[in-house]
Amino acid sequence: MHLKNSKTVVIKIGSSLLVDDKNKIRKKWLESFAKDLKKLKSKNKEIIIVSSGAIALGCKKMNLKNINLKLDKSQAIASVGQIELMNLFSQTFSKFRLNISQILLTLDDTEERRRSINAKRTFENLFKLGYIPIVNENDTIATSEIKYGDNDRLASRVAQITNADTLVLLSDVDGLFTKNPKIYKDAKLIKKVENLTKDIQGINIKGITKLGKGGMNTKIEAAKICNLSGCDMIIANGLHLSPIDKIEKQNNYTLFESKISKLHARKKWIISSISPKGELTIDDGAKRALINGKSLLAAGIKKVSGKFNKGDHIKIFDINYKEFARGLSSFSSEEINKIKGCQSNEIEKILGYISKSEVVHKDDMVEI
Ligand code: GLU
Repeated sequence: MHLKNSKTVVIKIGSSLLVDDKNKIRKKWLESFAKDLKKLKSKNKEIIIVSSGAIALGCKKMNLKNINLKLDKSQAIASVGQIELMNLFSQTFSKFRLNISQILLTLDDTEERRRSINAKRTFENLFKLGYIPIVNENDTIATSEIKYGDNDRLASRVAQITNADTLVLLSDVDGLFTKNPKIYKDAKLIKKVENLTKDIQGINIKGITKLGKGGMNTKIEAAKICNLSGCDMIIANGLHLSPIDKIEKQNNYTLFESKISKLHARKKWIISSISPKGELTIDDGAKRALINGKSLLAAGIKKVSGKFNKGDHIKIFDINYKEFARGLSSFSSEEINKIKGCQSNEIEKILGYISKSEVVHKDDMVEI
């Protein structure tokens, strides 16, 4: 029901949905999941999968036990297992004519603005090409200090970067309960969480579930990130066949509803992010284009002040030196100095490499 109104959906699946407790691949389940996605795609939804399983499948391939692995060993195992994981997706999804791609991220890629903008563009381009990106943490190089460690929070960051409408965490429980449902018979499923701090007060989230590396506590952390990004989050039981279809048809999950709109969240983020590193002064034509919701192109830029990098936060002034908008620059100040006043099709020749044509993309800009 909820997914009907979502354009971009991130779906996180844990290792235990892909491999059962006898260490067998759950092929039937994956096929039913692929069928669900085919349906979503036919409704023009943009889908991203965040999938665990590199370590589980690596252990399976190498005949090793997936317990108490030291970091360096699990990194090596993940490097073997990631191929297995993608092969599994590729073989299964091709039966349904679903095209997939792989994106491996580390914590830095999502926390550092410049890198997260790059990741965002790659996701957008893959959507345009009709591909389903499959994301995992880059376990092979992520050390303990720079590691998410669980795909719940990684998925929420991916949802934030891509401006997703809904994040679905497919788990081994129906959702968030008032008590641990595995111990207490009178535990009740909380169907909707509207106020994260108030509604979950008194619930011992630590003892509720433990799936893969994350438990209910990492799921609540993920909900907090989603909440601030204007993205709704669902925790649902993924163990059934056709798990997404079940969410659409049955109201048996926990929905964490974000109280702020995505646009508002993004604007707030752009306006409140660290102090701007530089300034651009633009001509009247560019100002009019911006008012009409267009991106800022090089042709309308008159002046560049300050030193900034690609991805940095900048102020945009009109010709009368009135601050008019703020945004994230897609080029460094050095590059803009070379291309200001030029037509977009001249950029490649001037800089000597292929680049995008928007200096500040409309999605990365807020008028003030
Ligand atoms: N990235 C890990 C893997 O692919 C899993 C992390 C998690 O279970 O959340 O095995």
